[in-house]
Amino acid sequence: MNKTKIEWTEETWNPTIGCTKISSGCKYCYAETMARRLQAMGVKGYENGFEFTLMPQRLEHPLKKKKPTKFFVNSMSDLFHEEMPLSFLDKIFDVIKQTPQHIYQILTKRENKMAEYFSDRSLPPNVWLGVTVEDRKSGLPRIKKLRDINASVKFLSIEPLLEDLGKLNLDFIDWVIVGGESGLKARPMKEEWVINIKNQCQQSGVPFFFKQWGAWGADSVKRNKKINGRILQGKIWNDYPTAAGISV
Ligand code: SF4
Repeated sequence: MNKTKIEWTEETWNPTIGCTKISSGCKYCYAETMARRLQAMGVKGYENGFEFTLMPQRLEHPLKKKKPTKFFVNSMSDLFHEEMPLSFLDKIFDVIKQTPQHIYQILTKRENKMAEYFSDRSLPPNVWLGVTVEDRKSGLPRIKKLRDINASVKFLSIEPLLEDLGKLNLDFIDWVIVGGESGLKARPMKEEWVINIKNQCQQSGVPFFFKQWGAWGADSVKRNKKINGRILQGKIWNDYPTAAGISV
């Protein structure tokens, strides 16, 4: 378990690390850069770099924590990766069920394996289930799959936002996070794309969280992401879901 700078969570829990790229949002994967850096530094657990690796020794970490905590599960991997054994997924969800004091935020780009896994298993109420939506081609089908799963909170991580998403179907979606890409080669995000999503969230009553501009500012100028900040139309958008009576 690790404290994290990710704005919408409290700690990360990585029972697996490593992944493989699956869609355009993966192009400059932060987890890959970080895993390779940790491998070069000789950090324990990162001997395989970014290869998908089970970390069974980390399974029990949330069991040791009494204080209610929001965990982002697998910030360094994808929980529904093709190489993830179903038996190991079952172990992860056993831990989640044994720790109802925590909230587990699970985000995937592998919506088909996620849907298949939950087709004959119920989701604990302390799971917030989300999909990444970086563009129309890969992202919109993921929303459709997510909508059909019976999770207490369903959310969209629209990051990095790579194009205008047009009209979104936000039925049964409880939370939307939007952010731009960071890093030297970051692709631009236009202000009007963000406003389009924010307006649709407001019209549908869906909490909206604007995470960051990233490398490209609201004025379409590339500069340090800290300077670009996270102000959109004069304010910080920090809303969280309130569904299912779960407080944050
Ligand atoms: S799915 Fe996520 S962790 Fe995996 S390669 Fe893509 S961005 Fe990286």
